[in-house]
Amino acid sequence: MTIRPIDPTLMRVDAHGIRLIGSRCGACAEIDFPAQDSCRRCGATDMRVAHLGERGVLWSWTVQRFPPPSPPYVPRGREFEAFGVGYVELPGEVIIESLLTESDADRLWIGMPMRLTTFDVPGHCGEQATTFAFAPVTEGAGQ
Ligand SMILES: [Zn+2]
Repeated sequence: MTIRPIDPTLMRVDAHGIRLIGSRCGACAEIDFPAQDSCRRCGATDMRVAHLGERGVLWSWTVQRFPPPSPPYVPRGREFEAFGVGYVELPGEVIIESLLTESDADRLWIGMPMRLTTFDVPGHCGEQATTFAFAPVTEGAGQ
């Protein structure tokens, strides 16, 4: 199966999994996602590629219960399904906004351990594309 990242500047996806691509400032080590041309902390332009961690902690979240404006949103099917959206803190790196694989509000909590995963979505031209999402880490489930 061909994996098509919805935006190859945001992520690397291959048979080994998915990694998010951010930037690290060569002057102060600040990490940003998406990658930036200059540092938001110190303004330096010596930015390097940073492959971000795959584990994080749910920092805040909500459940999207109605379709966002389209475009840019592309519905996954005929009927809208609610989905989780959250901020996930990658320890020592950055807090990023992400889709969540869990949309049940009773199964999400601040501080919840999360792991990066792939999530298939419709692309803008009707093709299937892959984006990133974070999934709850279930203790003892071999994840
Ligand atoms: Zn900097």
